[in-house]
Amino acid sequence: MTHDLHAKILITGDASVGKTSLINRFIDDKFNDDHVYTMGVDFSRAECRVSGQNVLIEMRDTAGQERFKAITSAMYRGTNGLVVVYDITDEESFENVAYWLKIAQESAVDDLPIIIIGNKLDKNEDRKVPRERGQVLAINEGTQFMEVSAKNNDGVHACFMQLIKKIIMMQNN
Ligand code: GDP
Ligand code: MG
Repeated sequence: MTHDLHAKILITGDASVGKTSLINRFIDDKFNDDHVYTMGVDFSRAECRVSGQNVLIEMRDTAGQERFKAITSAMYRGTNGLVVVYDITDEESFENVAYWLKIAQESAVDDLPIIIIGNKLDKNEDRKVPRERGQVLAINEGTQFMEVSAKNNDGVHACFMQLIKKIIMMQNN
């Protein structure tokens, strides 16, 4: 299949918020309850038809470096979409979204399409971060926003599609 667009999407956010689970869910439709801790950068790819275009989606998972805040600007090279994830049951992970956005601003191109994702929506009874706080942050930062559950596969496809549509819009401008 030839591709009209190669979307290179980087996922950042604190350790254990569910970044790898979200990618696995989107790419392979699977969920792993064990925490797999890998070093280095993981690349995974999927082909999708979005807005009448054949899109090759490449996911770049930070795979452990986020623990040491060791995301280098090299990781942002060529990135044309960014996902920043927090865990709705972990307030600190939400407060750190500002940090991840700042790093992206320093390292990436201007007008990078970004979506902020509040993950673990299935644990709504343990929620520490009200949905409205995520919405307000996204409005202030000019990004997209969604709450999802990688575990229940709730909203995962939709949030990546929302970002990819934005990437397509930006490319056509
Ligand atoms: P990462 O460090 O950000 O890549 O996070 P992982 O994808 O490795 O997930 C960390 C832990 O959270 C694992 O034990 C996952 O099973 C769990 N997890 C990930 N997503 C969800 C979710 O949507 N709901 C729940 N309940 N647990 C999740
Ligand atoms: Mg991971």
